Amino acid sequence: MRSRLPFPTLRTAPTEFFEEKRDDLGVWRLQDTFGRVARDLRVSLTDRCNLRCTYCMPADGLEWIPRPNTLDDDETIRLITLAVTMLGIRQVRFTGGEPLLRRGLESIIAATAALTADTGEPVTTALTTNGLGLDKSAAKLKAAGLHRVNISLDTLDADQYAALTRRDRHRDVLAGIDAALAAGLTPVKINAVIMPGVNETAILPLAEYCLDRGLQLRFIEHMPLGPRDSWDRKTLVTAEDIIRRLRDRFTLVASSKPRGAAPAQLWDVTGTTASGPVSGQIGVIAAVTHPFCGDCDRTRLTTDGMIRSCLFSHEETSLRDMMRAGASDAELAASWVRAMWRKKAGHGINDPRFVQPSRTMSAIGG
Ligand code: SAM
Ligand code: SF4
Repeated sequence: MRSRLPFPTLRTAPTEFFEEKRDDLGVWRLQDTFGRVARDLRVSLTDRCNLRCTYCMPADGLEWIPRPNTLDDDETIRLITLAVTMLGIRQVRFTGGEPLLRRGLESIIAATAALTADTGEPVTTALTTNGLGLDKSAAKLKAAGLHRVNISLDTLDADQYAALTRRDRHRDVLAGIDAALAAGLTPVKINAVIMPGVNETAILPLAEYCLDRGLQLRFIEHMPLGPRDSWDRKTLVTAEDIIRRLRDRFTLVASSKPRGAAPAQLWDVTGTTASGPVSGQIGVIAAVTHPFCGDCDRTRLTTDGMIRSCLFSHEETSLRDMMRAGASDAELAASWVRAMWRKKAGHGINDPRFVQPSRTMSAIGG
């Protein structure tokens, strides 16, 4: 793991502290004590969801955050705008909960897509969704300025899907994927979490389905971010397990493209499916067995306006409270810089003293 320590201690003098974190363009950077700079903002637009995936939520759902405690569209857009224009954010990904349930999604995307990053390029916009309703909204979201989409699909078997998500909506997700492709929200990526004894049989059919359609499949190792006691290291389906399964049918060669801050290890895949010879890329996100924290470039904003430096943080900074107390953009930006400066070296899942954060994935924003 990379561990550069260019700044030995946190200085207290505010002016000196912030001057150090300005880049050549005079923009503050969201830098931490290990030299990592956050360029990728994950914005959770709601903690609510229309599925109940077993690895993410309890069957009865969660106690939702009361609406008055969540950011409205204007507050959300204000924080995204300052993150891009003052703090060097270059990519914004909308997530949740289920972001398609957010009424103001189109206008939030449009306002974000209109922003220019410090590179002089428009900010990149992306969405992570379970795909329900995307058949009706994909074209509108594309027109609003959405660039890319990740759709969660853990199996091609409708019964397995219903057991895993506790809802009978498999056909709707497939329609959402088709609509995303038709709308040109490319590359369309498919996220799949593999659970032991639940959907291991889905690995090869998912690979075939995605290779046939030019979809980029990403397998994600199950992380301890769902309901308590729903994660067990002993039965974890690891990245190695997944690659071994894929090799039963396909030829996999590790991609030579530099990975940068991307969490997925990419594999160039070739083989034959029922439709003939296929080739493409499949990614495996080994968040547990091969953590990529050393290259992390993420910062997170929850739907109730908290900054988190990591999915696994135990610490949050409320920009909502500051904003509602009348803070200026500069004051909000300064708090964001301070929150990221304290980012820990890694998520600590593999440390025996690991403690799962109190919020689940759906309430943080995956
Ligand atoms: N509802 C949307 C969806 O499902 O894509 C966005 C939010 S969801 C929390 C974002 C991603 O996190 C999904 O791809 C989901 O599969 C993944 N996820 C949720 N809980 C997880 C866990 N415990 N371990 C690994 N991935 C998880
Ligand atoms: Fe909802 Fe996404 Fe969590 Fe599934 S993974 S319950 S779709 S937030």
